[in-house]
Amino acid sequence: MLVGIYASYQNQVHEGMQHIPIKTCIPIEEHGRSMITPFAFRAFQQELVLSLQYAISEMAYGSYLVRHFKKMDGERLVIRVPEEEQIHCSCKEFESHALGVLIVKNYFQLPERDFPI
Ligand SMILES: [Zn+2]
Repeated sequence: MLVGIYASYQNQVHEGMQHIPIKTCIPIEEHGRSMITPFAFRAFQQELVLSLQYAISEMAYGSYLVRHFKKMDGERLVIRVPEEEQIHCSCKEFESHALGVLIVKNYFQLPERDFPI
């Protein structure tokens, strides 16, 4: 999980951070900016902006159907396990699909469990 986005998590997280403007004003974005490297944060921002274009339907047992508003095919299933702060998408990546679910569930921070330090 979080592979492409957080793989470059490093200790010098504050280096150059202030030079990247926030794009969405979503709290989760500001949290991400304080947590990950500028390089990773740019990729994260792209996923975040994309995540705002999904229709998200809550299903039973903590699962969510995620669909891009322009595409009738390509539905994804996102499973959330709040007790373990875990979130998985059927495409096996943590990206815009999972982010979309976090946003509709009023997450203001990225789940700590997903940071491979
Ligand atoms: Zn996905």
